[in-house]
Amino acid sequence: MRDERVSVQLASDVPVDDTLLATLNQFHFKSLKLQKKAVSPHVLKYMNKVDQNDHSSTYMLRGMEAAGKANVQRLLKKDYLGMIGRHFNIYLKQSGRIRLGKAMNKDQLEPAVDILADEFEEDMVRHFGLTSFSPSRKFAVAITHDVDYVGNYPIANLKSGLVFLVNSLRTVMRPRLSMFYLKAAFRFLFGQVNYYGFDDILKIAKQNDFRPVFFLFAKLPQGNKLGPLQRLRFLNPNYSLENHDLSRAMKAITEANAEIGLHGSYMSADDPDLLTAEKEYLEHKTGHACQSIRQHYLNIYGRISHEIYSRIGIQVESTCGFISENGYLCSTTRPFYAVLPGHGQNQVIVLPMVFMDAVPLYFRPENTAEVFAQLRKTLHWLKQFNGFAAFNFHQRVISCFPEYKKLYEDIVSEIRDMGGKIATTTEIEKLYPPCTDV
Ligand SMILES: [Zn+2]
Repeated sequence: MRDERVSVQLASDVPVDDTLLATLNQFHFKSLKLQKKAVSPHVLKYMNKVDQNDHSSTYMLRGMEAAGKANVQRLLKKDYLGMIGRHFNIYLKQSGRIRLGKAMNKDQLEPAVDILADEFEEDMVRHFGLTSFSPSRKFAVAITHDVDYVGNYPIANLKSGLVFLVNSLRTVMRPRLSMFYLKAAFRFLFGQVNYYGFDDILKIAKQNDFRPVFFLFAKLPQGNKLGPLQRLRFLNPNYSLENHDLSRAMKAITEANAEIGLHGSYMSADDPDLLTAEKEYLEHKTGHACQSIRQHYLNIYGRISHEIYSRIGIQVESTCGFISENGYLCSTTRPFYAVLPGHGQNQVIVLPMVFMDAVPLYFRPENTAEVFAQLRKTLHWLKQFNGFAAFNFHQRVISCFPEYKKLYEDIVSEIRDMGGKIATTTEIEKLYPPCTDV
């Protein structure tokens, strides 16, 4: 079917290749093909003579104009496809390490691609009298958990307790924040915290009838290729699947039918052998195929990591988010296939990660009302665009910070109240089928 598609070039400075085209196809080309069906044979002939140097989004619209469908000057000026393409370029074209702290522009603070895509659809419908071409979908959230620390660590407690104490003194002019730190300092210093968290989460999941997702680190018996200095920098999580707390957690997770994905080690993002070994080790320990991944530290090598995922059978990746700000790295709330040049559709789906608890915890921990307000705004975007995205909590945050446990429960209720679904990452294709050929 592919060769029947209208060839498309994007306007302005967007370099075009298969990657970008295939990505755009998922969002938009269903519409182009519908339009192709709608035009007369005369126009089709005209459109098929596409000059590779022309902009065929423009070209396609001209075809429509030639068929007497509409005056398209206004649409041409907008160059929707070019604008959308620029957003995806950031992520898919990158071959070096992507570790983005903050949004690079305001379009990443709101889902600009979704806004443009909807506008594009609206314009198409209005100008060409087509029926709406977006598949009907329900918005969904995958509630995921990065597992970095497990159990109880007196040294970590002491370290965190002292850091909170210093922060409390440092922020004494902001009494609420200072008090938050002070309370946390006492909890940590007097050993009243545990880094387990699984029981709380599984209980909430059971009460609310959803399957949580846990990303587990696979510490290999032969090591995960970190040098001694890198180990001191805590570049990898600190537990082994063999330790007692983890075995207990794994049993509970399995009984609760939660989804287990891989929390890839720091060096695995561009090392196929290491990532394969970690995936196989995790599968061996859980007895289940592992199809989902989030890299620790949101550490990913764009195209290179995706090539590895595709080769070793990882189907969903949700590392696509920021470290120190919550936003929309690819400016979208919708999952998309990452398509690599020369690979056709490689079947790795990117599930945007649009919220991480660590962000407010580091910057505005005391103001959970504000965090909740931000999460609600994100849920409204998800609902408006029928999106499907991941929220990322750390299981230890739920057990160490009562405020965040409350926030977690509130957000679960809110998703339900807004009519959303809570799903696992690998349920994407079932819930959220990609645009298919028409
Ligand atoms: Zn992590």
